[in-house]
Amino acid sequence: MRKKFIAGNWKMNLTKAAAVELAAGLAAKIGTPSVDVAVCPPSVYLDAVVGALAGSAIQVGGQNCYHEPKGAFTGELSAAMLLDIGCKYVILGHSERRHILKETNADIQKKVVAALAAGLTPILCVGELLSEREAGQTAAVVHDQFDGSLAGISAEQVQQVVIAYEPVWAIGTGKVATPEQAEEVHANLRAHIAAKLGQATADVVRIQYGGSVTAENAATLLHQPNIDGALVGGASLKVESFLGIVAGAT
Ligand code: 13P
Repeated sequence: MRKKFIAGNWKMNLTKAAAVELAAGLAAKIGTPSVDVAVCPPSVYLDAVVGALAGSAIQVGGQNCYHEPKGAFTGELSAAMLLDIGCKYVILGHSERRHILKETNADIQKKVVAALAAGLTPILCVGELLSEREAGQTAAVVHDQFDGSLAGISAEQVQQVVIAYEPVWAIGTGKVATPEQAEEVHANLRAHIAAKLGQATADVVRIQYGGSVTAENAATLLHQPNIDGALVGGASLKVESFLGIVAGAT
C-alpha cells in the first residue's frame, strides 16, 4: 500500500547554526524508519542541511521553485538547482504562497511541470480558508486547486506527486482538524482523483495532512485510511516533536 511520508516544513525559520543542529539531531536519532521522512529548510541552508543529513534516512526538499529552467530571473531558484544541491522534494502551492505571495493555480501548475521534468517530487498543497469551509465549499475549493495545479499533467505523472491537504484555518493556529474532518476531505479528494484520473492513480497518490500536527495528535490522524502522512510546520523545528510525529506514523 501507500508508504507514509512525514515532511517538516521549516518555513522562514532558524539560523544556519540552528538548522544544522536540528538536522544533525534528527540524523543521530532517526534510525531506519519504516516511513519516508524529509525536511524542507530555507533554501540558503539547503546545502548545509544536506551535509548534516548525509548518510541518514532523511531526505531534503525545497519550499518553492521557479518554473523556468534557468536564465534572467533574479532571486529565483530552478527545480534543477534544488535537485543539484541534493533535494528530492519541493513543496509547491503552499497556502502561504497562494495567499501572501498571490500564487495562482496556473503559476503552481507550471512549477509542478518544471519540478517533474527536473526529477523532483512535488508536494502540492491544497486547502480551504475558514470562510470557505463555513460556506460549505471545502470540496469545491480542494478540487479546484487540485485540478488547476495539475492541469494537463498525465495520470502517470500525477502518481509521482504527493498532495498535502492543509486547511488554512489549521495552519499555525493550534486548531488541528479532527481525524474525522481530515479523513472526510482526504477520502473525498481520493474519490475525485479516481473519477478524474482512474482508480489506479487514486490508489497510489499519497495525501498528507498538514495544520497544527503535533507529536500528541499525529498518531490518530495518521491511522485514518486516507491519510498517508503529515506536512509539519512548527512541530518540525524540534527534534523530539518531529520524531514523535514520525513515530506516530508507524
Ligand atoms: P503548522 O504545523 O505550524 O500548523 O504548519 C503547517 C504547515 O503549513 C506545513 O506546511
